[in-house]
Amino acid sequence: KPDIRRHMERLTAEGVDVVRVTYPDLIGTDRARDVLVDHLPAACEHGLAFCRAVYHTTPQGDVVPVAGGLDAGLPDVTVRPDLSTLIALPWEPGVATCLGEVTDPATGAPAPESPRDLLRTVLSRCAEQGLRPIVGPELEYFLLEQTAAGWRRHPETTGAVYTAGLRADPSNHLLRTLRHLRDLGIGVITGNHEFDGGQYEINLTHSDALDAADRSFRFKAAVKELARRDGLLATFMAKPFGDAGGSGFHLHLSCEDAEGRNAFDDPAGAHGLSAVARHAIAGIVAHAPALAALLNPTVNSYKRFGPDTLAPWLIDWGPDNRSAMVRIPPERGAGARLELRLGDASANPYLAVAATLAAALLGIRAGEEPPPPLEGYGYDTARSAMLPTDLSAALDALEADTDLADLLGKDFTTSYLTYKRNEVERFQRHVTDWEFTEYAYHL
Ligand code: GLU
Ligand code: MG
Ligand code: MG
Repeated sequence: KPDIRRHMERLTAEGVDVVRVTYPDLIGTDRARDVLVDHLPAACEHGLAFCRAVYHTTPQGDVVPVAGGLDAGLPDVTVRPDLSTLIALPWEPGVATCLGEVTDPATGAPAPESPRDLLRTVLSRCAEQGLRPIVGPELEYFLLEQTAAGWRRHPETTGAVYTAGLRADPSNHLLRTLRHLRDLGIGVITGNHEFDGGQYEINLTHSDALDAADRSFRFKAAVKELARRDGLLATFMAKPFGDAGGSGFHLHLSCEDAEGRNAFDDPAGAHGLSAVARHAIAGIVAHAPALAALLNPTVNSYKRFGPDTLAPWLIDWGPDNRSAMVRIPPERGAGARLELRLGDASANPYLAVAATLAAALLGIRAGEEPPPPLEGYGYDTARSAMLPTDLSAALDALEADTDLADLLGKDFTTSYLTYKRNEVERFQRHVTDWEFTEYAYHL
């Protein structure tokens, strides 16, 4: 209680009268309510009622049925402001924001599908092995502007990769975004134009895995909000255009041991990597098809994979190789790490990080050894196995991967599979423009 009073005094002194309480639902959408500061003590004590976290309203207005969702009468989840995450919104005077903790009102325990709690569970399993995972997120996205002909890339021109200024950022939107994200405490390092017209990437500092997931989640919500303020649309969907590359969510991963040293570094090991790093790579490679279900969570995600895309296509790893699924960046010592290039930007950051760590942990626990590393061109199907080619196959792989599913928890896996299989079914029933153009005139 004194804690809440202290926060309220600070907020009032700063001229804040509204707190936006935001939490990630199952798919990583930022669900939020604006709470008047006067109501904050009650919100902290009783929590805010939201309808259960596993739901999604389609553009047609359907509520997607999931276990414990509509079939159970769409019950509440309780969301309590986590005041340790409170920060003023740099672009909206009078408004501060914080994350919410999601519990099941029936039990008071974390809701089984709460992604933050799932990540916490996986992190406690890592701690049992004496490991503290460190994560550095890289997120790509497209910026679109509305025209009479629909949404167009902003700017449309390609070839702007690693350029700055108005050629790459025609309205200085990226510059404004970077400054606001810094003031929001997102830990931004750099922002740049990516390979395709209207595609940008912003890199975040590495930190403790939960903090890195929190920042990635808040980053995506902030980037979308800031785009709206400029009349633009920021999208993290995996592959918005057939004639452009997709948007990745690369995860840089290392682990600190009990002494705070980088457990992935070993100057005497092959490639300068430790046995722990090798086992982590082996785990990620072995569980890759199931990982795809969480790191590549949409029907659209599988259109990002392909040869010569800089996105992966095959299941492999290699030192400083951007065509590999797991790249080992050249830095060693404190900077020794792996870069998992599998995920796309549409992934729920909490689930992507939790699943990656779970796979690495399984490899570490089992002392697994990875296959020989890739050298050179990485898109050779004669050499490496292929990633799942669609969401349905990835979901089947997740269900079949009982070790990974057990680590993530049965309740979570069941909710997730139910939700995502419904998405696949809805897509399968949908008649696309491609089918009409391909068949209508000739058949
Ligand atoms: N856009 C690529 C992807 O989908 C990554 C390009 C890069 O290496 O930055 O993963
Ligand atoms: Mg990039
Ligand atoms: Mg990268």
